[in-house]
Amino acid sequence: MYLLETHMHTSEGSRCGRSSAAEMMEEYGRKGYAGVVVTNHFYTQQTKVDPELSWSDRVEKYRDAFEIARKEGMRRGLTILFGIEFHVNYYDLLTLNITPEQFLKHPEFYNCSFTEYCDQIHAMGGYVVNAHPFREASYVPPRTCPPNHTHIDGVETFNGANGNPASINHNGKAHAFALQHGLAQTAGSDAHHVNMINSGIYFRTLPQTPAQFVDLLRRGEGVLCKSDREFR
Ligand SMILES: [Zn+2]
Ligand SMILES: [Zn+2]
Repeated sequence: MYLLETHMHTSEGSRCGRSSAAEMMEEYGRKGYAGVVVTNHFYTQQTKVDPELSWSDRVEKYRDAFEIARKEGMRRGLTILFGIEFHVNYYDLLTLNITPEQFLKHPEFYNCSFTEYCDQIHAMGGYVVNAHPFREASYVPPRTCPPNHTHIDGVETFNGANGNPASINHNGKAHAFALQHGLAQTAGSDAHHVNMINSGIYFRTLPQTPAQFVDLLRRGEGVLCKSDREFR
């Protein structure tokens, strides 16, 4: 089985990222991962990209951070896939199977609603996973709308950064929500530091492209890895 990280940040791409791409990829290799989906923040205050730049420059800088991660990962034999963690209306959306080139054409994403964003991503052939939909934390503004199941494709039912006892039920609620609505499930570390790498999805065949990854999720393939004690 091949282990794929589905949610991680680097200090080059995310303001909250505390380890560099080189440090992160080193640790993924050491822990036996086969691949990593890089999901830096875009577009919130947590992105490393200067919000004063034009939309096209922002997308360009975001892509630069991904390219650093891709090179560092490939040097260590990892398969690296492009992703985005996009924040809109209280939702953190892992956005898959889209390219920076596609994003370039949509400056309206800066000011769109949750449903407009999801509709447009789907129109581009992309896939939307709601990351940690039930997280409550001091830095998360109080939610004014419930998680929405009609515009997303999947739910992150195990978020490794939710793993401490105080927030463990946030994953439980996400799991129940996915089952209730028949949504695909993902697991990922949401790692911001090398010490946070703890989960992912095992696949029988390793996806080589975001399209293959999304296809496997649509088919319900993959076994969620919810603890680094499972690493083999
Ligand atoms: Zn972050
Ligand atoms: Zn994240």
